[in-house]
Parts: sequence; structure tokens; C-alpha cells
Amino acid sequence: MVDDILRTPGAVRDAERWTAHNYHPLPVVISSAEGAWLTDVDGRRYLDCLAGYSALNFGHRHPQLIAAAHAQLDRLTLTSRAFIHDQFADFCRELAELCGKDLVLPMNTGAEAVETGIKVARKWGYQVKGVAAGQANIVVAEGNFHGRTTTIVSFSTDEDARADFGPYTPGFTVVPYGDLDALAAAIDENTVAVLLEPIQGEQGVVVPPEGYLPGVRQVCTERNLLFIADEIQSGLGRTGETFACDHEGVVPDMYLLGKALGGGIVPVSAVAANADVLGVLKPGQHGSTFGGNPLACAVAIEVVRLLATGEFQRRSAELGERLRAGLEGLLGKGLVGVRVRGLWAGLDIDPALMSGREACERLAARGVLAKDTHGSTIRLAPPLVITEEEIDLALTQLAEVLAA
Ligand SMILES: *Cc1c(COP(=O)(O)O)cnc(C)c1O
Repeated sequence: MVDDILRTPGAVRDAERWTAHNYHPLPVVISSAEGAWLTDVDGRRYLDCLAGYSALNFGHRHPQLIAAAHAQLDRLTLTSRAFIHDQFADFCRELAELCGKDLVLPMNTGAEAVETGIKVARKWGYQVKGVAAGQANIVVAEGNFHGRTTTIVSFSTDEDARADFGPYTPGFTVVPYGDLDALAAAIDENTVAVLLEPIQGEQGVVVPPEGYLPGVRQVCTERNLLFIADEIQSGLGRTGETFACDHEGVVPDMYLLGKALGGGIVPVSAVAANADVLGVLKPGQHGSTFGGNPLACAVAIEVVRLLATGEFQRRSAELGERLRAGLEGLLGKGLVGVRVRGLWAGLDIDPALMSGREACERLAARGVLAKDTHGSTIRLAPPLVITEEEIDLALTQLAEVLAA
């Protein structure tokens, strides 16, 4: 009855009718948002516990980011890299400083940052390390998620992501995640890089054993290859530090950044590395029409400035402990596994109770939006502006879903 006069069901049907079904969205139709809250076409409010897979670390429509976007829209939006614009140098310098690196190469999507990292590592391998032509290989981890291009899905171990998209790009060796001996054994004289997520987000917020990342760093240094950290989802405050690698004091040779770098407004990604690495690229060898455009740079400069205060990293670390305590209290009460780093959590629901999808549907009905990953695992990644009370609200709703 009530459904007949609501706009949501019709809007859900329309959205499904006119798109390829490469996603299976929850049946909510959002029309506005602010901070940690979303509002649907019927005026119902939802607490956002996904934050655009960490693209919305600073919440929806953060005033400082929106102001920067508005101001830039009124002045200049695109030049292409054929000309230099007045936002470019500040963006590159401030991001390089945040990363502690010499140089930045801006792109748009995360997948493009990963592709850039792969291309740079291969060129570095041939030109600096002296690998024989066409022989470079890169070691990657099982359970990885680095994006959706044909090269990237070539070394995915998720059959949904990979099957029927071949022929696959050669030059990648897959080893178990978290196993340092297996990684070291996979390296040969043609290995140019190790490409890893310091925490595997899509896999369910999988944190490697302590000592693994420092071990990878050491092996890469000893064997003369590049450690490429895909911090597209884990970086920029999500885990309670600027980078997930910071938890173990590890500095990779290349940071791959994306998602939150665009402030939830525009796609912005980047590779940050020192001059001995990014310096291998010469004019004409790599590029992007929209990469480093004025609007992207204007927003991303403010993102870097928000991070430079340390406030978001602190919030994430402190509130993350509250989230951890609440979730660990649900172990044995419907949860069989919990992994938390800052405001980032992977929860394994007892598969006998319900699937992750069912849990997310029930949470949505209670005004909390989260996303399942694999099977009965769901991920919580609220905007870092979320409050203690809002975390408690999400925990209460989760407890009731699990108890029902
Ligand atoms: C999301 C993500 C990507 C891909 O980013 P897109 O912007 O969707 O291309 C790559 N790596 C990691 C770790 C991600 O989470």
C-alpha cells in the first residue's frame, strides 16, 4: 500500500532497466547527502557505512572541498596537459610532500594509477635494473583487487572478475598473501616489482601478519626491485594513519592513490615515487587527457590539506577503537570473524545465519548502508567524519540484525 505511493520501487526498476547489470545495488535510490548521511527519493535517511569504498573519507559534500570545487568551476576546468594550469604545481608539490616522495604523476581512476605503476615498474626494470627486453615480471598476491582493466584482471584470482576476459596479459606471478617465503621464492632475475595492497579491502579487510610488510620492504631492497603499495582504498586516513604502510613504518617505492584523493567529487588518482623511479618516463610515453585537470587538482589540494592536519587520521584511529570494541562484542553473537584497522572493518557473519547480502539488505531496512564482499563477509568503511553516537547506532542495528 505505502509502497504504491513511494518513488523508490519505480526508481529502482528504472535504474535496472537501462543499465548493464555489472552491479547488484541495494534497492535504495539516493538523492542527496551530507556528512555521513544519505537521503533517498522518499526522504528516508541512511547512515553511510561504505563511503563510496573510501572515496568519501571526508564525508559527503565536505564544505572545504565543495567550496574549492565551486571556486574552480567558476575559473577553469580543463586545459589538458598540453598547457600548464595554475593549480597543478601546488597539487603535485603538496601531495608529494604528504607522501614523502619527489614526484607525483596524476591520473583519474584507481585502475589508471595501477596501470601507471605497472608501466613505470616495467620501464624501470629495463632501463635501470637491466632486465632483458620483454622479460619483466611483477609479483602480486592472491585475493588482490587492483581494478578492472584487461591487464589488471589478468592477475586477479577472483573468477568473476577474470573469467572470459582473456587473452590475459603475461608477466605476473601470483603468490599467497601474507606469506613472505612464498613471495621471496617467486622472485627471479627478471622481477621488477612487488605489487600489493597493504590491507586487502575487497577481500574483506584482510590484514597481513605483523612483520609481513617490513619483510616485503626488505626483500625488495635486497633483490633490487620496486615495492608498489596500492593504497587506493587503504590510504588517506582510512586506517588511522595517512597510509596503511605507516602502521609498520614501511615506506614503499611507489604509492598508488585514488578514491579519497578526489574528495568524493571528482575522480583523482596518482602515483607518487622518487625521481629515480618516475623519472624513467619521458614526454609522449604515458598520459591522460583528464589527468591532473584544474578541477581535480583544486579539489585534491584541499584533500591533501585536510590530511596534513592529521585530524582525520586521529579520528579514524580513535573511533576505530570504538568500532573494534563494539564488533568484537558481537563475536559469537552472529559474527565469527572481525578485522579492524581504523574505521575500516571486515566482518564474517556466521554463514548459517545469513549471507552478507541479506545482512546488508536488513541493515538498509534499518537505515544503515553497508556492502557485502564475498559470501558472508561485509565491510564497514564509514566516512571519517562519523561521530561516536553514529557508530553506536550502526553497531546497535547490526546487533539487532544478527539477533533477529
Ligand atoms: C577501488 C580500487 C582500485 C580501482 O580503483 P577505480 O577507481 O575503481 O579504478 C584499485 N585498487 C584498490 C585497492 C581499490 O580499492
